[in-house]
Amino acid sequence: MAQYWALKEKAGDCLLFYRMGDFFELFFDDAKAAAATLDIALTSRGEHDGQPVPMCGVPVHAAESYLARLIRAGHRVAIAEQVETPAEAKARGGSKALVARDIVRFVTAGTLTEESLLEGRSANRLAALAEVGGEREVAIAAADISTGRFEVVTVRPDAVDAELARLAPSELLLSESAEDLPISSARQVVRRPASDFASTAAQKRLEAFFGVRTLDGFGQFSRSEIAAMGALLAYLDHVGTGGPTFLQPPVRHLASDRMAIDAATRESLELVRTMAGTREGSLLGTIDRTVTAAGARLLADDLASPLTDRAAILDRLDLVDALAQDALWRGDLRAALRALPDAGRALGRLVARRGGPRDLAQLRDALGGARSLRERLARRADLPPLLARLLPGLDGHGALVDELTRALVETPPVDAAQGGYIAEGYDHALDALRETARDGRKAIAALEAEYRDRTGIASLKIRHNGVLGYHVEVPAKHADALMAEGSGFTHRQTLAGVVRFNSADLHDAAMRVTQAGVHAVAAEAAHLEALTAAAVARREAIAASCDVLARLDVAAALADHAMSHNWCRPDLADVPCLEVVGGRHPVVEAALAKAGERFVPNDVSLSETDRLWLVTGPNMGGKSTFLRQNAVIIVLAQAGGFVPAASARLGLVDRLFSRVGASDNLARGRSTFMVEMVETAAILAQATPDSFVILDEVGRGTSTYDGLALAWSVVEAVHEVNKCRCLFATHYHELTRLAETLDALSLHHVRAREWQGDLVLLHEVAAGPADRSYGLAVARLAGVPPAVVKRAETVLAKLEAGREKTGGLAAGLDDLPLFAATLAEAPVAARDALRDALAAIDPDALTPRDALDVLYRLKDIA
Ligand code: ADP
Repeated sequence: MAQYWALKEKAGDCLLFYRMGDFFELFFDDAKAAAATLDIALTSRGEHDGQPVPMCGVPVHAAESYLARLIRAGHRVAIAEQVETPAEAKARGGSKALVARDIVRFVTAGTLTEESLLEGRSANRLAALAEVGGEREVAIAAADISTGRFEVVTVRPDAVDAELARLAPSELLLSESAEDLPISSARQVVRRPASDFASTAAQKRLEAFFGVRTLDGFGQFSRSEIAAMGALLAYLDHVGTGGPTFLQPPVRHLASDRMAIDAATRESLELVRTMAGTREGSLLGTIDRTVTAAGARLLADDLASPLTDRAAILDRLDLVDALAQDALWRGDLRAALRALPDAGRALGRLVARRGGPRDLAQLRDALGGARSLRERLARRADLPPLLARLLPGLDGHGALVDELTRALVETPPVDAAQGGYIAEGYDHALDALRETARDGRKAIAALEAEYRDRTGIASLKIRHNGVLGYHVEVPAKHADALMAEGSGFTHRQTLAGVVRFNSADLHDAAMRVTQAGVHAVAAEAAHLEALTAAAVARREAIAASCDVLARLDVAAALADHAMSHNWCRPDLADVPCLEVVGGRHPVVEAALAKAGERFVPNDVSLSETDRLWLVTGPNMGGKSTFLRQNAVIIVLAQAGGFVPAASARLGLVDRLFSRVGASDNLARGRSTFMVEMVETAAILAQATPDSFVILDEVGRGTSTYDGLALAWSVVEAVHEVNKCRCLFATHYHELTRLAETLDALSLHHVRAREWQGDLVLLHEVAAGPADRSYGLAVARLAGVPPAVVKRAETVLAKLEAGREKTGGLAAGLDDLPLFAATLAEAPVAARDALRDALAAIDPDALTPRDALDVLYRLKDIA
């Protein structure tokens, strides 16, 4: 018990897998939690404080699948192994001594490398967040230790959640002393000692890990960034208890290099995951045609973080374009890529010392394939610039590939323990050992024939098992002949039907076989070690090649999907516009296609002078779809891909926002209207003239009057203050009056018709406001009983009569003064300029004409 409690203390809030013989046992609350998650029997063992101790266990040989389920359910597990043999324990402390145990490893969601525990097509990240006092900015370090990718980025505190939503880490490390952050996007938050986050110690840890004197060679890092990276390393050290980990040198990203997309926007656009959390049905799931797991991971990254750098986007587009134009080339490239194994993760396992001959063979095949791919690609005349830059990254593995090719058999066995993975001809000494073993086995076969002849027993056999080794076996009824003195056989074992013997010749031959076998296995193990070391020594170059292959896969996949779905290459403009002809929503279109229905393409045309579209029309008319398809087109374009449209032109978007009115999100626990307003507030605070915003039924989550009033003022604020491109869908018909006062706002509607008493939704966006709301017709369409709809018609007639008299919901709104962005709300630069201009005015010295001029000037500044 004392040993258990000491280990449990070390394990902290992880479940403790306590090794006992062939089982990992769990006790107390750990047992209860594990039994519930794994659906295995909860039993008990012994007593503690007079109570039976709850216990459950899993067999060691099957532990991995149980671990996978526990990790997926959000647990972390500490593995306590026996670190000495029972014999050693006896020698140390006498016959009653307990075998020493220690935690050899923690298995946590963010630090997995096992193939069976990882999802091949998605990244698995561990992230650490640090904020060094006084810097007022937060650094996030993120690593995928299955591939060695390591990045760090600094963001403002209010953008932390958005960045975490992009990274979607499986595990997030926070300092014990850090304040709680409003984080919604990390699956598991782990508190680590504040000392792990101390930047001086962190710097030393990083320098030691990468074996450098200074980090300057990797770039300039802030103290927060160093703290975050160092804390991440400290945790890896802790969970692996010192084992090697694969990390490439950190890459520092600037938050401004990527489109800012916050958590709520990602969720509502379903970029890489649906609201239900699945990949299928998301944008990624719908358009993913990658043929390698690394390509699938990179595509997910690309869609999660579209670029803002024009040159980088054009580079990617040029490559996709070239591949789109040439179907033959594309098909060729994709076939070659499809044949390549996931070398990135194989490398990760080799570096972590959990790899084997299979992983080396995967490297051999992937890097060898990369080499011939490069040769073929280099023969092309007009390589797109990005490809020309990438190609050299596939070089340089020739020696390693040749070595691995010579060393390994075609398909090595999964289990290295038995040997058999080093090829014939690689090592003459090994070949000789194998020859000896083969000769021995031949000699044994010859002995069998000889003994049959000599004894006349046709059913005599030479067999092998773990206990006796090689032995002669005859049916019991023939045993007497061999039992006889001077027969040359010694009796070993009598079983029900057979009797087993040994002989001097057989013993000699068997010794030769066994010894040669043992030596051969040892020789193979030494080669495995050396080959692994050779691969690991080239890990950075290998990882870089894997990145190149993934980039090629993504470009070819995007081109392939674009061609088969009639997508087009987007044009990038210098002004904030969005002009799409024949735009479609890929996910909705795919869903409709399955049902045999056609998607109706729609145009949009936003410019600086017409930047806010107010879209009205009946429910189910296609408003949300229209809004989202345009956001998705922007994401795809800036990720460097083609877009679902006949043509598209856009000015680069710095931030993308999507908000959906509360009632669509009822599944969430919080007051949904509160959520809606918090999210809307974030847009009003952050959207710039380069941003793109879609607002879908904002204001719906509260009473009619409140909702209309809020929707009204939000539209005004977006128009007057943020000045961003915006599509705003609403069922508040009253909002259409804003068109009279807001000059960059225009009215649009989704078309519908009543035909023979039925409502026909055309899903077509047209200019002007909707003529009416069609609410009752939609109700009829939805199957509300005719009597109820009839009654509603009567009520509506009454209400409408009342509206005529009083002016209705929007009565009096016409004389509302214009929305004035107060000084406090105006952008900072304008605020300061205004203040200066005001201070410069001496009212007493102004003529009425001057005063008028001054007013015009002030208005210009604002
Ligand atoms: P709204 O936001 O106006 O209530 P949605 O955008 O949610 O409407 O669309 C409702 C349904 O109409 C969608 O699920 C889809 O099946 C269909 N739909 C929407 N847009 C189109 C379109 N452009 N072409 C064909 N069907 C569409």
